[in-house]
This record gives sequence, structure tokens and C-alpha cells, in this order.
Amino acid sequence: MVKAGKSVSPVVIGSLHKFSEVEVFQLREKLLSHYDANHRILPWRSIAATELDRNKRAYAVWVSEMMLQQTQVATVMSYFEKWISKWPTVADLSKATLEEVNQVWAGLGYYSRARRLHEGAVKVMEDLDGEFPNDRDSLVEQLPGVGRYTGSAIASIALGSCVGVVDGNVNRVMARLRGIGADITAQTTVDHMWSLADQLVDPERPGDFNQAVMELGATVCTPKTPSCSSCPLQSLCVAYCRSQDGHQKASINSHFKKVSKSKGKEDEGSVKDIECLPECDLCLRKEDWDSSLGVQNYPRKGQKTQSRLETSAVVMLQRMNGQMYFVQRPKTGLLANLWEFPSISLTSEEESQWEESITQQLQEFAVPQSYASSRIFVSDVLHIFSHIRQTYKVYKLLLDDKKPEVVCPSRYQGSQWMTREEFMSSATSTAMKKILKAVESSEQKAKVFWYTIFVLAY
Ligand code: SF4
Ligand SMILES: [Zn+2]
Repeated sequence: MVKAGKSVSPVVIGSLHKFSEVEVFQLREKLLSHYDANHRILPWRSIAATELDRNKRAYAVWVSEMMLQQTQVATVMSYFEKWISKWPTVADLSKATLEEVNQVWAGLGYYSRARRLHEGAVKVMEDLDGEFPNDRDSLVEQLPGVGRYTGSAIASIALGSCVGVVDGNVNRVMARLRGIGADITAQTTVDHMWSLADQLVDPERPGDFNQAVMELGATVCTPKTPSCSSCPLQSLCVAYCRSQDGHQKASINSHFKKVSKSKGKEDEGSVKDIECLPECDLCLRKEDWDSSLGVQNYPRKGQKTQSRLETSAVVMLQRMNGQMYFVQRPKTGLLANLWEFPSISLTSEEESQWEESITQQLQEFAVPQSYASSRIFVSDVLHIFSHIRQTYKVYKLLLDDKKPEVVCPSRYQGSQWMTREEFMSSATSTAMKKILKAVESSEQKAKVFWYTIFVLAY
């Protein structure tokens, strides 16, 4: 029996968006020569290139790739060196506590990455006899937090597997090289990018090749200021051809004739302006081409998801001796395990009810109303997480050294009174450090104010 269902039309991809064998050969040669002459010296690259122990290579690349997700190379360098000198092998990391791991990670953000590294190290030691899996699929399957990109990076850079990688830099370079103007996040585009990456990767030097494409995206084919004039791949670049007024049509037509000879006649003579085939699924549509943008017409992103706006109150409870009260977040979820000032959610639509809500919720910490209402508003602190624009309304509340006894609500793992120094060396988020700074700068301003009044009065 034939099931009734939605018919799916086949994906149409014009040959403009693919590489011929000759182009693959040329691209590898040009890109690797450029990489050999210009690549940045990075500590994890040195380990991957010189270390004889495959586990040490895999471990170094894994740590670096986890750190590099969402974080710039320049920031990662010092964190990576500190991490590797503290835990030179996966066995050393597996023996660390999560608290220690979070401490070394503090300031890099997205703390779930640190937790996954720790979990993965324990898994490698306990379940895999201390040996990293050998190929991309097993790495993805076995290591928590390792997806297709990270698995491919470890497999190619550390273990020499011939698999391509696709990240934001690779997407941009490929989209420009092959004139791919469809939404970069659409499944058809994603699949095509991976198939191009797997086709292009050089079997002789897979790790170097993958790093070379990513490095080109990071240093030459950048999002806003691409340096096409110094790009080794200019002669293979569709976006560059299109951005050159007058040469545009001739260059692309000549590319097509060359490709069509080896692929059959599908596109010969059909190149018109921006779209290679009327029904092509990967072309930028003619009406979307903006000649003032040049190569930056590529890649094209889908709709950006709007950040969520959230507001909460943070209350710094401080004793006369200067110690501050901190709570430890739950083991899972956003900012898991980190230490923070007590925070109070402000969910009411009505801003006028927020003050009352803070007083009430402070009772959860056993702070009596008489104390709670003497809190001082310090300032608003804005912090942007990946999808949340978080405003903290920061308050300070001075308490006696002994009373009241503050009680930690059960939604936290625990609590502790800490000095400033203890807090700064604990596992905490950048947002909390920002809050402490805001309080200190307001105290500083107050001191200057009272000093000025004093000087003027006498
Ligand atoms: S020529 Fe320009 S757009 Fe094309 S790959 Fe090079 S830098 Fe990128
Ligand atoms: Zn097309």
C-alpha cells in the first residue's frame, strides 16, 4: 500500500557550488603553501605537530577546541597554557575535582564546556582504558559535548584522519568561494558544506588543511574586512569574481564552461547574473544581491533569534568584617556549580512591585524584614549571555557579624562567607565579578563625595 504523504522535491545544486577535481588540487596547493608561510604559532598546534603520544595530542586538541567554542584565540592562549601545565594528560584531568576545573576555567564563560571536559576525562580513563577513540564518529559518540565539528577537528588535527571540518570560518570561506547564498543554517546548505569540506581535505595533511581553511577565515576572509587582494584563493573565488564590476559575467561564465566539460551540459551557457540555475537551492537570489556589499553578500544567515530580556535582583549581604555571602548554583543548568551573590527573580510585569518582592524573597534567606528594608540600591549591571540580556539590579545589605544567621535555600548546593580574595579565586562567572566591581566603584564614589564635603566644610 502506498502511504499518502507530502511529496519532497529533490534538492537542486548547480555545479557552480561544487569543485572540479582540478580545482580541488589547485585549492589544496595554494592554501597549504599560504598556511606554511603564514600560520600562527599556537600552543595546541605545537603539541599536535610534535607530540609522539597520540593520547596527549588528542587531549590537547580536545581541550583547545572546547575552549575555542565561543571564545577568541587570544583569550584562550593563556587559559590553555595554565590548563595544560596543571593537567598535562587526560589522566591528570580525570583526578581533578569539578571545583578545581571551574576555578581554572573561571572567566572563559559557558561553564558547561569545563564540566564536559572533566566528565569526558573521567570517561576516557574509566570506560576506555585511557585511550581516546580513533575516529570522528566514535569521538562524537563517546565524549560528552563533542559534536561533529569538534570530533572532526580532533580526528584530523591530532589523529590524522582524512575528514573535513565546518565551523563559522569554514562556512564563510566556502560560501564565498562557491557563491553559496542560501541560508547558511538550512539543512541543505549544512549538508553541502560538509560534503565540500570532506571533498577538499588533503589526505596527506588533513589536520594542516583544516586548520588552513579556518585560519584563512579568521585572518584573510574575515566577516567585515576580507583581504581579497592578498588571498591565495582569489582565482578560485566566485564571490570575488562577482564583486568585480565588468569582469563578473565573463569570469563566472569561463568557470562554468570549465566545470561543465567534466560534469556534462547541465549549466553550460545558462549563467545569468547571480543565479546559476533558476531552480538552484543554493544560489543567492537576484533580488537579494547588494552590489555595495561585494563579497560580503556571502554567506547569508537565517533570521537571528531575539535575545530574551530578563531582570533579577542581586543582593550583596556583607558583614562588618568585610566578608560577603555567596551561594553555589545547582549541579546542572546555566552556570552550573558556580558561586554567586544571592539573586532574586523579578518576574512581575509591574516594576512597582519589585521592591516588595525583594523584601519578601530575602526572607527565604532568613533575613528579617527589619534588615531587608535597609538595603541600598547600588546600580543596574547589564550582562549578555548567548540568548539572554540579563539586567541585575544590584543591592547591598550590611549585617552584623553574628546576626542574623543567614540560611541557604535548598535550591542552591551550599553557601559560604568569603573575603574578596577568596571570592576572586573561586569558580564564579564574569557577571558576578562585574557586580562586585559595580559595588566597589559606587563605594569609591561615595568616599570621594564625603571627602569633598568634608574638605569644603572645613
Ligand atoms: S578572494 Fe576574498 S572572498 Fe574570496 S576567499 Fe579570498 S578573501 Fe574570501
Ligand atoms: Zn546555484
